Amino acid sequence: MSKRKRILVTGGAGFLGSHLCDRLIEQDHEVICLDNFFTGSKRNVRHLLHDDRFELIRHDVTKPILLEVDWIFNLACPASPIHYQYNPIKTIKTSVVGLLNILGMAKRVKARVLQASTSEVYGDPEVHPQPETYWGRVNTIGVRSCYDEGKRCAEALCMDYHRSNGVDVRIVRIFNTYGPRMALNDGRVVSNFIVQALRGEPLTVYGDGTQTRSFCYVDDLIEGILRLMAYEGEQCHEPHNIGNPGEFTMNELAEMVNELVGSTQPIIHKPLPSDDPKQRQPDASRSKKNLDWEARVALREGLSKTIEDFRKRLAEEDAA
Ligand code: NAD
Ligand code: UDP
Repeated sequence: MSKRKRILVTGGAGFLGSHLCDRLIEQDHEVICLDNFFTGSKRNVRHLLHDDRFELIRHDVTKPILLEVDWIFNLACPASPIHYQYNPIKTIKTSVVGLLNILGMAKRVKARVLQASTSEVYGDPEVHPQPETYWGRVNTIGVRSCYDEGKRCAEALCMDYHRSNGVDVRIVRIFNTYGPRMALNDGRVVSNFIVQALRGEPLTVYGDGTQTRSFCYVDDLIEGILRLMAYEGEQCHEPHNIGNPGEFTMNELAEMVNELVGSTQPIIHKPLPSDDPKQRQPDASRSKKNLDWEARVALREGLSKTIEDFRKRLAEEDAA
């Protein structure tokens, strides 16, 4: 990128946020990483702490903050069902009140904002794969709604600040993303299966395991986010799906993890959590057309890299 920008990354000490901070520093930007460390950790960004271009602030987005920045990536929000359901009211507050603070700041300093939305806005979809034009099927009163509806409200806020106040917004709908640095106790399926296989424990498949997800490797995702933030074409304020169209059942995922780890652990079935979507696959043609973006890393390749990272961290943990 040509000109150095001052960039705020909320949730910057989390899984995706820390990879984004890495890429922005590589591109020679100044990065302010803001996090309340609910699911993120200093460890994810400690390699950046010595860099003059990097600043880490412990702060909660639900409280106002004044910063002078050019761009804001708003990633603050727990993303794993166990974590976002731990304190559901706080989750809604983070998505809604947190974003109100961010949009208010953006309005004042004329910053561009990218909101990390999610494929969860499609709920348990009847349209498959999901294009951005699909309005979704979310249970408004279920245990996942604190996350899904918080993110849907966040999209509405972005568009209303854009229409009413001219705030320059971008909305990315992120599909299940995995990779190195996911917390060992994250609770999402990829990290659960890898940790279980490496520890020699049975792999816990919820329900009959025929439900599907489409998994995107973190490097692909970050590239897509960066392209969307820089995009200034006609559809720049419209949501963009970023995800890998390769669709797998949870049974297939469990088998692949076992094979790549070299484990023979059995699969055990646990109850399916309520409102668990049956299928999920991005229609990523809008991102292909506008951003010339498509996922490049196949699941098998991405899982191998992820397993290596988990293997190292588990060994460190065992040695400690
Ligand atoms: P993560 O839990 O690793 O990261 C979230 C970060 O936000 C953490 O560092 C956490 O401490 C921080 N945070 C939470 N509440 C906060 C608050 N009130 N104030 C300040 N910081 C707060 O999850 P992730 O996978 O890196 O997700 C990042 C963003 O991307 C989230 O907004 C999530 O909803 C979105 N997203 C992720 C995925 C995925 O598959 N990884 C899919 C869809 C959407
Ligand atoms: N899942 C599973 N075993 C686990 C964790 C999750 O079978 O140990 C299933 C879960 O029921 C869902 C899918 O994997 O069908 C993806 O779950 P995750 O929590 O990773 O993401 P989300 O449901 O939000 O897409």
